Amino acid sequence: MFKTITAEQAAAERWDVLIAGSSFAAMFFLAGLPADTRVLVVERGPVMPHADQIETLDLPRADYRLDNRADLPKYWVAHSMFGGNSNCWWGQVPRFHPSDFTLFEDHGVGARWPIRYDDLEPFYAEVEAVMEIAGPDDDPVHPRSGPFPFPPHAISRSDAACIAARPDIWLPVACARANGGGRAGCCTNGVCDLCPVDAKFSILNGIDAFVRDTARLVPGAEVRSVDIEGGTATGVVLRDADGTERRVRAGLVAVAANAIGNAAILLRSGLTSPVLGRYLHEQVSQEMIVDVGAPNYFGGTSITGHCYGFYDGPHRATAGAVLMENYNAPNELRTEPGRWTERLKLKLIAEDIPQAANRVTLGDDGEPDVTWIGHTDYAYAGIARAEAGLADVFPFPVEGIVSKHFSPTEAHIQGTHRMGLDPETSVTDGFLRCHEVEGLFALGAGSFPTSSAANPTLTLSALSLRAGRSV
Ligand SMILES: Cc1cc2nc3c(=O)[nH]c(=O)nc-3n(C[C@H](O)[C@H](O)[C@H](O)COP(=O)(O)OP(=O)(O)OC[C@H]3O[C@@H](n4cnc5c(N)ncnc54)[C@H](O)[C@@H]3O)c2cc1C
Ligand code: SF4
Repeated sequence: MFKTITAEQAAAERWDVLIAGSSFAAMFFLAGLPADTRVLVVERGPVMPHADQIETLDLPRADYRLDNRADLPKYWVAHSMFGGNSNCWWGQVPRFHPSDFTLFEDHGVGARWPIRYDDLEPFYAEVEAVMEIAGPDDDPVHPRSGPFPFPPHAISRSDAACIAARPDIWLPVACARANGGGRAGCCTNGVCDLCPVDAKFSILNGIDAFVRDTARLVPGAEVRSVDIEGGTATGVVLRDADGTERRVRAGLVAVAANAIGNAAILLRSGLTSPVLGRYLHEQVSQEMIVDVGAPNYFGGTSITGHCYGFYDGPHRATAGAVLMENYNAPNELRTEPGRWTERLKLKLIAEDIPQAANRVTLGDDGEPDVTWIGHTDYAYAGIARAEAGLADVFPFPVEGIVSKHFSPTEAHIQGTHRMGLDPETSVTDGFLRCHEVEGLFALGAGSFPTSSAANPTLTLSALSLRAGRSV
């Protein structure tokens, strides 16, 4: 673990780099910095070892004020503790599809990305090595410069049938749930929010990749704002657990406090970008229980199959890409004799087009207010298109949909400080450097101009590593 110091001790020195937050975005940025850089990591929450997490089963969370104007329930999950949501994520790590970076150019919707898949590919590979990812090397969707660190988990019987029939659209999932490497092997119990055997990668169990002699951690203190002098970041204002505020000086500042927390810090710091705080977004997902005429289960981890049959194509001008997950974690079983496994749990995950009205502002007390007007018709059209086409991607009969519902959260907090080339329409450049302040980085999925249908964490980690290397 990092050597910890108090906020008072931190304020007595000047740091080369100060990072707000201690999860994926923060740690992969740190990993990219030159070895001799003196780094201060400031984390709002406590350090809670995995054994203590299992003991309490109740991890500290941030509660964001939310004005939900949409028809459907909405919330996000943000853990306030060392390692943030790496403590509760599920470890699904698809790379973004190459076409995700050219959605605007190809289909005229969304916003331009200032980088391409090839810019990120080497960083994807480095992050996959650190997380000890298990995944398939013969991946027709995402070009790779090298193999995955570990082979994919055993696939479920339904995935085996799908991949044999359509290897062009069905893949074993890439995941951070161990199938070899330094962590305990995944034992497929499917309660991955808090993995009892610590099989999925977390910042805590992967800490050796990030700790360095020249870095220190202040836990239990919050970065409130960035000090800016003459257009350059010079440090931050830190608020201790007892409410004491101190100035800490630094040569560079990076905020990695998730898309809502980052927006709050940058707004408090007086940044004036017209898009700052806007375009908060995430994917829409629909969970479905579907009866089929083929056996399921007996895979080696909680989710073993990904379907790209509804992902890219001309439809993306009007309907979002959909990534479909096929679960292996036991769910409801059928009751007919001999057919108890002939049921699938599927999740259709649709990209959305970010909307300016979904946004973070500051309340009178300086805390973030989140306004949510809902998802776009574009995202729901993607879900409808995939649901209508289900029978086309399975090599066995789809007998009927038992149940389906939209999820109130994907727990992917994205947008609010989007990257781009034009300071009028973006907050950072492609290296996550704020256009309007020298020496200030805004890390994490807040930088995504569009959502992709893929889970965000591998991509935000690769972007952070690339940003750290740019220092
Ligand atoms: C149940 C669940 C399952 C998920 N499953 C997946 C998955 O399978 N695949 C995937 O790709 N993604 C998944 N996610 C999303 C994933 O967890 C996030 O994308 C990821 O954690 C974001 O990393 P981050 O570093 O940007 O922010 P976070 O992990 O949110 O960490 C932010 C950190 O900043 C700290 N902080 C906040 N404000 C301040 C401040 N002012 N000063 C100092 N510190 C501060 C917080 O305490 C926290 O430690 C899941 C999320 C949840 C909740
Ligand atoms: S399936 Fe079980 S062992 Fe595997 S990561 Fe999830 S909780 Fe951990």
